[in-house]
Amino acid sequence: MGMQRSLLLPSTVNFLYSHDPPKGKVYKCGFCSYTTVHTTCLKRHSVLHTGERPFKCSVCNKSFTQAHVLRTHMLIHTGQKPFQCEVCLENFRHAKSLSRHRHKLMHFPPQ
Ligand SMILES: [Zn+2]
Ligand SMILES: [Zn+2]
Ligand SMILES: [Zn+2]
Repeated sequence: MGMQRSLLLPSTVNFLYSHDPPKGKVYKCGFCSYTTVHTTCLKRHSVLHTGERPFKCSVCNKSFTQAHVLRTHMLIHTGQKPFQCEVCLENFRHAKSLSRHRHKLMHFPPQ
């Protein structure tokens, strides 16, 4: 019956389209044409221009621009090696080291 759409409550509509940028609430980068609706995204983006490194290692005080870079760095201190060779079960700290190992020994996981 054609009237069905009007039964949607405004709050439901807002929920469904919450990923659309709300009008008048766009944050713009002062250095380039980057725009976002989230302040956190703009903050993360603007460190590319300011050279700011807000993520600091609590062990050696080294600082990083991105959270994931700090996380990888922390593995040095914790001694964790999360990458394992499926063939000889040797552990590696970086994905790169593991692939180098595979190439060197010419062994790859069975397909
Ligand atoms: Zn920018
Ligand atoms: Zn550190
Ligand atoms: Zn191996």
